[in-house]
Amino acid sequence: MSLTAARAETIPVDPNGPLLIVDVDEVLAFFLRGFERTVNAAGLQLRMDRYALLANIYEPGAGEPVPIERGKALFDRFFETETDKLDPVPGAADGLRRLSAIAQVVVLTNAPAAAREGRGRWLVAHGMDYPLIINEGLKGPECARLAARTGGPAVFVDDLLPNLLSVKEHAPAITLFQSVADPRLRSMAPTDAAVCARHDDWATLEPALAAALTR
Ligand SMILES: [Mg+2]
Repeated sequence: MSLTAARAETIPVDPNGPLLIVDVDEVLAFFLRGFERTVNAAGLQLRMDRYALLANIYEPGAGEPVPIERGKALFDRFFETETDKLDPVPGAADGLRRLSAIAQVVVLTNAPAAAREGRGRWLVAHGMDYPLIINEGLKGPECARLAARTGGPAVFVDDLLPNLLSVKEHAPAITLFQSVADPRLRSMAPTDAAVCARHDDWATLEPALAAALTR
């Protein structure tokens, strides 16, 4: 399949089949690790002292982070130059390939315009050539549009609790999973066991997704 960004209405969905909607950054790809390469290339350091991105960028030896505008510029450069160079999360591609035998896989990612083509190329290059939706903002509305197209079970995976809460609000029938790939983020990421199960490793995430998709 040639992979182009599509909307929920144009994705082929089996009206009775299971549907797996999966995020990219920190689920399929190591986002923070890639951003850190951009930060380091600019002669700066990323210190994950708090669950934030742009407030954690420092000049070497400095006690205060660089101004947020400088972080934003690095963030834009990262998406332009690093999107198709991210490290894949171990087990993700193989897990999705096996799960795609039992469910329609759709990739739902937030990325700025400059990163759209690179994101598609990256997915294809790493064996994850599934329909791709580029989203803006919280993911509840788009997940609701997708899940409305099937009477089968629908499952959503993301690292960010706000996206999971948004899906819970807009499409409460979707089963939610949280997964946080980067070890530095795992202890910091807000989580809620009442909202979603959490599996930070694909070794346990994959069988949990398979169970939810075949229930
Ligand atoms: Mg993410």
